[in-house]
Amino acid sequence: MHLTDPLTTHFRLAETQRSAMAKLGVMTVRELLFHFPFRYDTGGAESSIAGLVAGMDATIVGTIEKLETKKSWKRKIPISEGVLRDTSGKIKMMFFNQPYIARMWAEGTRVQATGKVAGKGDKIYLANPQLQRISIVEENLFKAQHEHGVEKSIDLETQEYPSKKSSGRLSVQGDAVGFQTFSQDIPESPGLFAVYPESRGVSSLWFRHAIAKVLTPETIEQVEDPIPLELLKRYNLPTLRTALVWMHTPEKLKEAEAARKRFAFEEIFLIQLQRQQERRLQSHEKSFVIDVPKKQVEGFMSTFPFTATPAQMHAVGAILGDMRTGAPMSRLLEGDVGSGKTAVAATAAYVVVNTRPTQEAGTLTQAGTLQVAYMAPTEILAKQHFESFIHYFETAPINIGLITGSGCFKFPSKVGKGQSTTISRAQLLKWVANGEIPILIGTHALIEKSVQFKHLALVVIDEQHRFGTNQRRTLAHKHDRLPHLLSMTATPIPRTLALTVYGDLDLTLLDQMPPGRKPIITEIVKPDERPKAYAKMREQLAAGRQAYVICPRIEEPDPEKAFALMAKSVTAEAKRLKKEVFQEYSIEILHSKMTPKEKEDTMARFSNHEIDILVATSVVEVGVNVPNATIIFIEGAERFGLAQLHQLRGRVVRSNHQAYCFVCPETRGEATMTRLKALVTAKNGFELAEKDLLQRGAGELAGRKQWGISDIGMDALKNLKLVEAARTEALQLIDQDEHLSRYPLLREAIHERAKSLHFE
Ligand code: ADP
Ligand code: MG
Repeated sequence: MHLTDPLTTHFRLAETQRSAMAKLGVMTVRELLFHFPFRYDTGGAESSIAGLVAGMDATIVGTIEKLETKKSWKRKIPISEGVLRDTSGKIKMMFFNQPYIARMWAEGTRVQATGKVAGKGDKIYLANPQLQRISIVEENLFKAQHEHGVEKSIDLETQEYPSKKSSGRLSVQGDAVGFQTFSQDIPESPGLFAVYPESRGVSSLWFRHAIAKVLTPETIEQVEDPIPLELLKRYNLPTLRTALVWMHTPEKLKEAEAARKRFAFEEIFLIQLQRQQERRLQSHEKSFVIDVPKKQVEGFMSTFPFTATPAQMHAVGAILGDMRTGAPMSRLLEGDVGSGKTAVAATAAYVVVNTRPTQEAGTLTQAGTLQVAYMAPTEILAKQHFESFIHYFETAPINIGLITGSGCFKFPSKVGKGQSTTISRAQLLKWVANGEIPILIGTHALIEKSVQFKHLALVVIDEQHRFGTNQRRTLAHKHDRLPHLLSMTATPIPRTLALTVYGDLDLTLLDQMPPGRKPIITEIVKPDERPKAYAKMREQLAAGRQAYVICPRIEEPDPEKAFALMAKSVTAEAKRLKKEVFQEYSIEILHSKMTPKEKEDTMARFSNHEIDILVATSVVEVGVNVPNATIIFIEGAERFGLAQLHQLRGRVVRSNHQAYCFVCPETRGEATMTRLKALVTAKNGFELAEKDLLQRGAGELAGRKQWGISDIGMDALKNLKLVEAARTEALQLIDQDEHLSRYPLLREAIHERAKSLHFE
């Protein structure tokens, strides 16, 4: 058996299994070995129905009898109700708020049901059990476990038990591999059973057996550890071989934990290496030297309708310092919503467009200035930045272009001074290419091949988590100079995550809000407090303010496909509010299924106060700026992450009016309430992000997909020490050996990692 063998060489897979495995990205022996359990069960815990009593956690193997959807008349929530039978008897199963369960499971299906026994005395039932389909083979195995308390290996292909009792497990001493057999007189511990993420057609049990088959001395000897041994020793981490065995077949939870820690370290270490390497390589690149006198910069900033905060001044100072050196700047400006990042970006743009291309750039004789590209994640935002820039540059007039998927604009227009005009894309691109438009703002349309700059010297990225050297190069279309990069985000992320994913960037925090902002009042709205909250809203609306109402869904779900019946929808809620609550106010909707044009029109009218209440999905999450909107009412609040809720809340802290945020959860579980209370008390987004990380786990952090970190890696982010260790070691290694020429395995691992992210 070789690590690169396709699984199909060693396993007979049904078509459904094959596609399920493909979806999980498990196609080879190696990938199977690296498909890790997400938790461990103690073995032999199955109960029989006759033995169940209220309050216990039970795992039962049985047949589904009767399963139907009902509406509980008392609680008005949909439930699925069924009966599970085993040889000892039967028990009711209740699935609250999960009407679809009845459609997912056919009567007569053999399942393993795991859940809490609720009810009293005779009237007990399984509450919201987790169902897992099981095959006859697996069931026999359950019996075997049950009878002997020992897991046996079973040949899936012949569907027979092996005659020989194979007890024992692979053992690794240092890096030597052996097979450790238990002698019969040592009592076998019940051991731990790995539970794997499942997919249709491949159960956790299937994985257990498949892994038992591939986790052999032969395969284990083929894996090579990319992490230098002295590092493992320093941090007391198991080698790769040991860790693989411990991960899949731990004897004690401690072993599994040590293995997980190792893989977490490895992942963070690889990310750090890659980032530090990128940073190192970038420092050898050339960029434009931009040096505008301080007086002139201050002059520009003094035209703003406000005084910059010390944090803004500090950020500007750092940016100017970077751009003066001629090495490409890579700076991340992280600031809570409303902290005034745009003004900082405008100042950076100002110094760039007030710099002439130098002789080195080969253009001494040509007119024009260096150029700026400013990329926003949505059209609404691009448009808004375009307008803000027009204001910021009011006294230093300059051509500004806007490019989005649905149209192009230029400021100023030839006819109306102080106004912008639509122009053709071709015309805009021509002016950008010949340098007549020094500032181009846009969406992703900005990085299309057809967009050519003459002297692109600064790229500003708003709310974009990663933007690497290569993308900058594509944008610049020239290989001799890399533009400076200013990345901006309002997504507050925990320090460990920032250290990891932004390892190649210098970080500046805008940790100060413009003066005069009143802290927002956040209230959790219980079901019977709705009228009170609406009264408060009405009071503000009457005083001339505007409101957002955020719903988790766009439309009412098709009842046939109802997976989330309870979530309020934008369309229905807007109707209901108009009909039942705010008859006298104009109410409109905004969501991602509208065309960019429709969204923009709606936003423009909301901005002009032609709309009082905007009922929207979380599309208003990033950056939207309507200072007169001071109330946000969030429905289904528990469906959003804390960081996201904070972002949403940030929509209404844009002025000196008192702002209100009402969060209204659908359910009132303890965890939900704890989380929402954190929103009420936390002082800023960073504090919240840390809380979110600890409470919900990193998997829930907003934007995690973009960061390309596995669950294990994300888990590691709770551990500041581990992250710092990985970072320190990565820095040191890159310091000694920038290209990692002495570490081919590490190089390969970094490469593999990047490749797998690319295909995601
Ligand atoms: P961010 O992008 O960081 O969320 P913006 O740049 O959109 O924030 O600024 C939010 C609002 O605050 C804008 O209306 C802006 O004009 C205003 N603003 C920015 N800086 C200051 C300041 N130093 N004092 C007062 N208002 C400011
Ligand atoms: Mg912004």
